[in-house]
Amino acid sequence: MSRPSLQLPVIQNWGCHNCGGCCREHLIEITDDEKQRIEQQSWTAADGVSMARPVIQRIARNRYRLAHQDNGACVFLDEHGLCRIHAKFGEPAKPLACRVYPYAVHPAGEEQLTVSLRFSCPSVVRNLGPLVASQTAAIGQLSREIVAGKHRDHDPPLIHDAPPHGIQQSNWSDFHRFLTALDDCVADDSVDLVVRLMRILAWLELVEQSQFQTIRGAKLDDYLSLVTAAAAKAQSDNDLPIHRPNRMARIMFRLIAAQYARHDTEALVRGGIRTRVALLNAALRFTTGIGRVPTLNESASVSRVFDDSGDDGRKQASQVVCFSDLEVHFGGRRPDIDELLTRYFRVKIQGIHFCGPAQFQTSLLDGFRGLTLMYPIVMWLARLRAARRGAKQLELADVQASLATADHNYGYSPALGTRSALSRISLLSRMKQLTSLLSWYSQ
Ligand code: SF4
Repeated sequence: MSRPSLQLPVIQNWGCHNCGGCCREHLIEITDDEKQRIEQQSWTAADGVSMARPVIQRIARNRYRLAHQDNGACVFLDEHGLCRIHAKFGEPAKPLACRVYPYAVHPAGEEQLTVSLRFSCPSVVRNLGPLVASQTAAIGQLSREIVAGKHRDHDPPLIHDAPPHGIQQSNWSDFHRFLTALDDCVADDSVDLVVRLMRILAWLELVEQSQFQTIRGAKLDDYLSLVTAAAAKAQSDNDLPIHRPNRMARIMFRLIAAQYARHDTEALVRGGIRTRVALLNAALRFTTGIGRVPTLNESASVSRVFDDSGDDGRKQASQVVCFSDLEVHFGGRRPDIDELLTRYFRVKIQGIHFCGPAQFQTSLLDGFRGLTLMYPIVMWLARLRAARRGAKQLELADVQASLATADHNYGYSPALGTRSALSRISLLSRMKQLTSLLSWYSQ
């Protein structure tokens, strides 16, 4: 795949604004070649790099990552928030993982790649910088480096892999038909986003009940149009029935939300037994859902970027919040919040960033259910941020910060890819509680 063709998201802008967040909060694993290259760069204290410990740290047999400073920042991050490797040797001298972020590149067919973005980067959340679609040359170069020497032929993610019809596989061109149908449903802003997501959950259920292995090409388009029309009838307007999720659903939801709220930095990894006990205690509290919501280890750069951008000059959040405080109305269904989350869902769909290799090899149906769950998770975390300031209404910045926090883990936290974590989402779907969670936390 020397020159794969690239599909870039058409609704997203991005440019780095040097907040330094990724250099403070991401643990960068490096290849053998990168290790050798960095060792040959011969860093010394004269370059401003601390010699208190090696610049490269061994994490397992034949696995290494960049070391971090005592304050948690990458050993190469300077006091102005810039990368010393970039400054001294140029951008191509950095590890590929640093150069690629916040892009995520996924196979999209024979000799085709598609590009998504990680919303853990505040500039992605705020849609800052030039259109991604105008950056073809730079992203193309990175993509070629990512796939160099790698296996080329990937099957598309499964459409479905469970009863009643077992494994349902499509070819790439039909897989893109499913993606287009999903993207069209999310893009239809004639109704609130949460109504669109409800429709998609109905859409997924109808597809799940069908045996479409033999429907191909243009006939599949017709079939998907029928399914879309039927799903739209199931939830026809903005008058949503609001149902409180049942007790079991609330427990599972809080456990998943807690996992998305975690921000495991270098400092936390170094925390040892004390940190692990604190995390266990927090997990117990999230299970019971009684009393105070434990303090979550929020990303410092997310706080720095979004706490300064609120409507009210934002004082530092400090109030004690109980779980019950988050189960009330927070005024969440608003056009600006819909616009942000619509862009998020569409970038993930267009970049195939919700199923297959990007999401623990889940099928299209299961992967999209997991993606839908991001709506109540982000809104719940946004309520928590607002409540910590004593506010009764969400601001856009609460949702932006919560999206950046949750997406840091989406598809990347190994804990979210375990069998038990994935089965929680399936169970919520089978119990018909995904729709309750969507409507309840949209208020
Ligand atoms: S988090 Fe985004 S804006 Fe901040 S330094 Fe990294 S790439 Fe740039």
